[in-house]
Amino acid sequence: MEKICVAVRLRPPVTQEYSGGTFWKVDENRVSLHKVHGTPISGVSYAFDHVFDEMCSNSRVYELLTKEIIHAAVEGFNGTAFAYGQTSSGKTFTMNGSETDPGIIHRAVKDVFGRIEMMSHREFLIRVSYMEIYNEEINDLLAVENQKLQIHESLERGIFVAGLREEIVSNAEQVLKLLESGEVNRHFGETNMNARSSRSHTIFRMVIESKEKDINASADVIRVSVLNLVDLAGSERIAKTGAGGVRLKEGKHINKSLMSLGNVINKLSDGAKNRGHIPYRDSKLTRILQPALGGNAKTSIICTIAPEEVHVEETKGTLQFASRAK
Ligand code: ADP
Ligand code: MG
Repeated sequence: MEKICVAVRLRPPVTQEYSGGTFWKVDENRVSLHKVHGTPISGVSYAFDHVFDEMCSNSRVYELLTKEIIHAAVEGFNGTAFAYGQTSSGKTFTMNGSETDPGIIHRAVKDVFGRIEMMSHREFLIRVSYMEIYNEEINDLLAVENQKLQIHESLERGIFVAGLREEIVSNAEQVLKLLESGEVNRHFGETNMNARSSRSHTIFRMVIESKEKDINASADVIRVSVLNLVDLAGSERIAKTGAGGVRLKEGKHINKSLMSLGNVINKLSDGAKNRGHIPYRDSKLTRILQPALGGNAKTSIICTIAPEEVHVEETKGTLQFASRAK
């Protein structure tokens, strides 16, 4: 069983306004809450595999946290990278990036094709899909007509989303175009894009298949790996948003998937010995990700946190989630 790599990323402040009570301090792989004059607040200090401060670029996050997963995926190992955190803490910035600093997904796609070029003795077949889970319903982001898809399981395919479009791709530009069109589909008919994106999980998936070009090569097995890059729904508690009606229903679904993700990851990180039953079936999110979570799959979680004092309780919640994943 591979250890899950857990990182925390502190985003820069979005307003200059400063309330003056406490602040989060990053010191190597530790993040702690301090009083303004510098004294640490006891008990509010957490260590992780990596802690990225507000100056850290997506490029560095990719190098330290994701690159290894991508390279292993090209070699035939399953992998999953998550961004977890409250709305506005920087999940999408981390996954999708900006004009000047492309995010994890962009870098991963480029890197996959870069590695493939270096492995000229193997022949590759790459398929991509892009889906969202919204209200415990699976929608295809590459084909708007594919809504409310079901999860199936078969001997030959394992666990799969029935009817999900898979595009065969041969270069990075093609994939990035698909992603763009997926973003458009996601927002189709939405009056409030941010509201929707904060309440849905998006899963970008690459299936990487390869075999030796030389048909006489010994032990010529086909390798197949699944790589998931996941931008999770906002982890904020329902209470804070004062939700009712539809919002409340959405909130419950989000919390259910995030809670079961937490449970699955917690069980996995407990180690093989006293792990027992892993509750993958408790949510669509964990069920879809099951094949690439656990076993010899490589997994990383980046938990994004906001520096503002108004968010301090949510931030503690995120750090506790991150701690349970270690
Ligand atoms: P989330 O997806 O978690 O809701 P976003 O990624 O949309 O949050 O981030 C909220 C805002 O903060 C966006 O305007 C984004 O560009 C900005 N932001 C987030 N993280 C960073 C960062 N590390 N550096 C610069 N800007 C950031
Ligand atoms: Mg987002």
